[in-house]
Parts: sequence; C-alpha cells; structure tokens
Amino acid sequence: MHIDIITCLPRLIESPFSDSILKRAQAKGLVTVNIIDLRQYATSKHKSTDDYAFGGGAGMVMMIEPIDNCITDLKNQRPYDDIIYMSPDGERLSQSLANQLSLKHNLILICGHYKGVDERVREHLITREISIGDYVLSGGELAAAVVADAVVRLIPGVLSDETSALSDSFQDDLIAPPVYTRPAEYKGWKVPDVLLSGHQANIEKWRMEESIARTKARRPELLD
Ligand code: SAH
Repeated sequence: MHIDIITCLPRLIESPFSDSILKRAQAKGLVTVNIIDLRQYATSKHKSTDDYAFGGGAGMVMMIEPIDNCITDLKNQRPYDDIIYMSPDGERLSQSLANQLSLKHNLILICGHYKGVDERVREHLITREISIGDYVLSGGELAAAVVADAVVRLIPGVLSDETSALSDSFQDDLIAPPVYTRPAEYKGWKVPDVLLSGHQANIEKWRMEESIARTKARRPELLD
C-alpha cells in the first residue's frame, strides 16, 4: 500500500510513522508513507497555502490551487483508489471502514488546518471524507495518523502474529477479552485459573464468553 499525506505542517505527522508498528511496516516494504509539504505547491510569492475567507469572519481558509497542484502531480505518478479529506463532518472512522481501506493500494489523505479547505476542494477534488469523531482538532494531521495506523496494522504481514489483529475489539463486533501476563499473582490479585490451565479449548471458550459479557456490558448495540 502507498499512502500520501498532504499537509502544511509536515513535522506534526512525521513521528507516528517513525516508530513501532508503522515504522516496521515500512521497513518490511508493506507500506510506503509519503508526507508532502503543501507549501511546495504554493504559487504565491510568500508560498502561502491559506487566505482570508470570502464574506469575512475569523479564521483562514486553505486555498484550492496548491491542493489541486499537489493532487495533479500525485495522480500523474500513480492511480489512486481514494482521495480522502480529513473532516469532522465526514464519515465516521470505524473498524469496518479501516478494514475496507486496508484493501486499497494507493490513498491520499489531505489534512486541513485553520477553518478547513475551500469548499471547491471537497466538491471537485476528493472522493471521500473521514472524521475520527465528533470533536474538532486544530488540524487533520493527528486524524490522518489515526486513520493510517488503524489501516496499516490490518495489512497482512504488518503485525508479527497476524491473528492478533483479528482478535482485537470491533473486528467481529465484539469487545476483546481481558488479557494478563506474568506474574500469575500480584498483591494477591490472581489471573483466572483457566488461563494457566494449558487447556486451549477451555481458554478459547472462556475468552469468547468474556468477550460477549464485556460487549453486553459496555457496547450492547454491537450485538444487535
Ligand atoms: N471549521 C471546521 C473545522 C476545521 S478544523 C468545522 O467546523 O467543521 C481544521 C482541520 O482539522 C479540518 O480541516 C480537518 O482536516 C481537521 N479535523 C478537525 N477535526 C477533525 C476530526 N474530528 N476528524 C478528522 N479531521 C478533523
């Protein structure tokens, strides 16, 4: 998979891709992540990527031209499955959307800033909009990092034990069961006996029961 992230603040998004699973996924050649500084595509004298809002009001608006130039340049290099604008009023990110996106080959994620992008970007240049939740961030960079992380860890081979993504919460509309590690007893708090029994069938049965009980208690709507 190839992901291009368009931003006017590249430093804000570099570190999530320089560590842990996202770093290893790139090292293994399973994903390439390209962070693009929108300023490179600015045509004005001061290389600005934003301007005052028509009609007045507080807050700058990201201009269409640098974004259009950038997308055009990228599209000349490869075909894209989706050109995604990160937006608080977009489709809400879910595990099922992450699963869908993990099957794509080439994605562009566009990070807005200030008041957002000129509406014509949304009308003419993108194919979908994604929100990471009903709250407003200062920019799309953290949201794009969340989307990329949720998607990349689902690509086969990225996690060392592939089944671990499948047993995560929401993957089958269930919340993950509790997990424990050594010591088996700490300050008198014990790990459930079944997990120490070595009886794999009983362990799987216990995990499934715990998953269902936890889903009923915390997120009953997932079971509907
Ligand atoms: N004025 C806009 C918010 C702009 S916030 C509004 O009220 O809808 C600046 C940028 O941050 C947005 O352009 C978007 O790219 C990003 N952003 C903010 N909150 C987000 C969220 N919940 N999900 C995804 N992107 C978000």
